[in-house]
Amino acid sequence: MADSIRLTFLGGLGEIGRNCACVEQDGRLLLLDCGLMFPEVDMLGVDLVLPDFTWLRENAERLEGCLLTHGHEDHVGALSFLLRDISFPIYGSPLTLGLARNRIEEAGLLDRTRLVPVEDGERRNIGPFDIELIPVTHSVPHGFATAFYTPQGVILHSGDFKLDLTPVDGRTTDLARIGAIADEHGIRMLLSDSTNAEEAGHAASERAVGRVLRDLFAAHAGKRIVAACFASHLHRIQQIADAARASGRVVATLGRSMAKNVALAREMGILHIPEESLVDIDKVDGLDPGRVCVISTGSQGEPMSALALMAAGENKRLRVGEGDVVIISAHAIPGNEYDVNKVIDGLYRLGAEVVHSGLADVHVTGHAMREELKTLLSVAKPEFFIPVHGEFRHLTHHARLAMEMGVASDNVLLAEDGDVVELSEKGVEFVDSVPAGFLYVDGIVGDVGHGVLRDRKVLAEEGVIVVVVTVDAQSGEVLTGPEIITRGWVYAPEAEDLLAEARQRVLESLEEAAEEGATDFETLKRHVRQAVGRFVSERTKRRPMIVPVVMEA
Ligand SMILES: [Zn+2]
Ligand SMILES: [Zn+2]
Repeated sequence: MADSIRLTFLGGLGEIGRNCACVEQDGRLLLLDCGLMFPEVDMLGVDLVLPDFTWLRENAERLEGCLLTHGHEDHVGALSFLLRDISFPIYGSPLTLGLARNRIEEAGLLDRTRLVPVEDGERRNIGPFDIELIPVTHSVPHGFATAFYTPQGVILHSGDFKLDLTPVDGRTTDLARIGAIADEHGIRMLLSDSTNAEEAGHAASERAVGRVLRDLFAAHAGKRIVAACFASHLHRIQQIADAARASGRVVATLGRSMAKNVALAREMGILHIPEESLVDIDKVDGLDPGRVCVISTGSQGEPMSALALMAAGENKRLRVGEGDVVIISAHAIPGNEYDVNKVIDGLYRLGAEVVHSGLADVHVTGHAMREELKTLLSVAKPEFFIPVHGEFRHLTHHARLAMEMGVASDNVLLAEDGDVVELSEKGVEFVDSVPAGFLYVDGIVGDVGHGVLRDRKVLAEEGVIVVVVTVDAQSGEVLTGPEIITRGWVYAPEAEDLLAEARQRVLESLEEAAEEGATDFETLKRHVRQAVGRFVSERTKRRPMIVPVVMEA
């Protein structure tokens, strides 16, 4: 249909992370966010997970650009990978662009894009797209909801948001504007953040954390305080710095991204810490502990982060111990609990006191909870609804909530990664699907496939057995070996008998093969693999990876 609008979901619908959607109008494409995901525990050795960009690469010439809703890594972190393949402009608030710029610059790809700042409330055209940027409150400042004015009516995308009535910067989610759009034009379709769709009630205001921090700083007067939070959570950083200054402390930053973001946000006037209250981290040791606050990265227990190194006693710039208080001002993102626990344990072992979100309200969420989601639904009154940004359970609960709020059940779509939906006069329907699997990154390129991960899992859980044997090319007779090398199956020095028996089985299997006249490598390898596999399974009930190496002489 000529005037129809298509939405292609490349990530974020079925997982928390790698948010990436594409809006299509008049044959042109506008990307909405381009994020990464941090690997789950079973993704061994994987550093990052990206959306599959196959479809975007194939349609590169139709791409007008990428609009960023806010500066979190799960919305901007994959740009430095996509820009290697496709060159396009990036639109976002000045802060969002400043945060997104880091990785792009590190990858040496700044010349592949143009960073175009957009302002709160601005309405502008990008190609055929007529969009309006609506302020929302979130755990990073200057986020947007986006209204797309299309021939099929207004499509509103919430971005990551909460309804904080007393945000630190006073910049509230502009519900009034959303209501005005709904009254004036009607909102044909709403796509909304589902992260907290299972959480009853209303998220606490970010300001509540400020009060808790001030109390904690007062309660620990005389002690050195280290506070860890996300380096992008500038309002949290502001409140930590305010609490520090109110208790007569100077502030030092620790961790590269913390130093970078604090400098950026101060320059932009978003973060207010006077020069005289800042001190270099290397000067901290010489100061009275009760006059110091260190704001650090590593609130997710990331193994190489400033906080994790501190907990391991390996941070060269700051050693913590008896008399120090560490405040972890964050919740562990699912998958990071293990790392965070390890850090907390390490800090206690060093003699430090630890205050985390399980002990005090040192963190509030940046995502709307059920009452807030209901408020947005009631203000926007959308004809169609698609829950976005969440695991399938979150999407499911958000879909049900929309129906409870009066959206017709036929008009609520549970879309997933890879789905293409079309909005037309007829309504909304699924029309296509595109590749949207996980793209694993280990090192700097996205080239770790499912096969590699499967191998890593077998190696990690079962170990490996390598069988090396040399055979006569004509007769198939064994000339040297078999030699059996194993890692992670049995500890070789203590399993001589077992290995001797395995060697015997390999010899027998090769003799059998020779009798059958088989001399080609593939057949011999198969015999070796089967013989060893059966033996290992019989004797040890395990399934290690078996690598037969058959050489001919
Ligand atoms: Zn976010
Ligand atoms: Zn997000």
